[in-house]
Amino acid sequence: MIYTINQKTVDSLYVHVPFCARKCDYCAFYSEPPTRDEMDRYVRALIIELEMVASDMQPKTVFFGGGTPSILSFSQWTQILKAFERLNLLGAEEWTVECNPATVSEEKARLLADYGVNRISMGVQSLDESILAKLGRIHNRSMVFKSYDLLRRIGFSNINLDLMFAIPGQSLEQWNRSLDEILVLQPEHIACYELIYEEDTVIFEQLQQGVIEETDEDLAAIMYEDMIRKLDHSGYRQYEIANFAGVRRNQHQGIPEMACGHNINYWRGGSYYGVGPSASGNIGGVRTRNSANTERYCLSLEKGERPLEWTEELSLRARAGETAAFGLRMSVGWSLDLFYQLTGFRLETEWKTEVEELIGLGWAELEGGVFRLTMLGIRFADAAAERFIMLDAE
Ligand code: SF4
Repeated sequence: MIYTINQKTVDSLYVHVPFCARKCDYCAFYSEPPTRDEMDRYVRALIIELEMVASDMQPKTVFFGGGTPSILSFSQWTQILKAFERLNLLGAEEWTVECNPATVSEEKARLLADYGVNRISMGVQSLDESILAKLGRIHNRSMVFKSYDLLRRIGFSNINLDLMFAIPGQSLEQWNRSLDEILVLQPEHIACYELIYEEDTVIFEQLQQGVIEETDEDLAAIMYEDMIRKLDHSGYRQYEIANFAGVRRNQHQGIPEMACGHNINYWRGGSYYGVGPSASGNIGGVRTRNSANTERYCLSLEKGERPLEWTEELSLRARAGETAAFGLRMSVGWSLDLFYQLTGFRLETEWKTEVEELIGLGWAELEGGVFRLTMLGIRFADAAAERFIMLDAE
């Protein structure tokens, strides 16, 4: 089972780039506008951290997220990629870099492709200028099309586009228009997120002060249903609450071919290293989190210490509960046998009460040895998952 994992088998790597040109009004991720010196110092520290973990890893998936990885300059990217080469970290089957449409350049995109980056995830959010302005995004719609064309021209054949709905003031028509325009581009993957009002964001403050109103729940539900219908009709399969991927014509069920393997590893409870400020990791059930302060992060590494803010080792049962919760986010749910193989626990007996309760609510079904959420359950996925996570505290 994966829980007796040997560190040599860690094959997923997350790298956090904590910089953005400007903070978006809804964003609670750790990121800040940088100076050139701060970015140079971060790159040096990141390379030291990579040196510390590289020998335990042979990454099959790599994900550069943030923040805005594409904000790094050509020479900063060159240093990171050369370090990957020196540390034998190249060759991932899936290597994703998140990009902002405003900071994609031909020179950098070619460099990434040359070193093996084969998946780009671009934060589009909307193609409506007024909505983009409301979100505080730095890009406009023409930058989306320009960057997308450029990435295709360079040869990226696996592109994800992120969209957001239930944005204050966003009409159903505006949402549908953005969706339709995205579908014309035919990306391999689309991720659609409902706007969440996170504390310590501009948009949360605006809500508190009555400057904006939360989107009506019924409208948000219609937007969600329209999205599922349109994407399904256009050949995308929903394989997780917010994630849709293209399917081959002869692939009738299961996880779609273009699904994000890196995220599937998270949802299946697999191990991964997280490097960079604020990055989380999970190595055989030992969870780690790096300092969410770039200055402290760099200082630690300059002294030769890993910048871990905390580590936590969960019991086997707690880990299994967490794995159950994450895996339920996926449309394929849990094969009971696979869950047992991975965790050593029988989902249907260890969590009998919870499984029966979710089935009784119409949120889940148990059929043919597979436990999964229903369409109704997917709407309440967080509440469904909590049943398993809350058991962790016992
Ligand atoms: S670009 Fe992404 S990470 Fe940066 S502030 Fe905006 S939403 Fe947050």
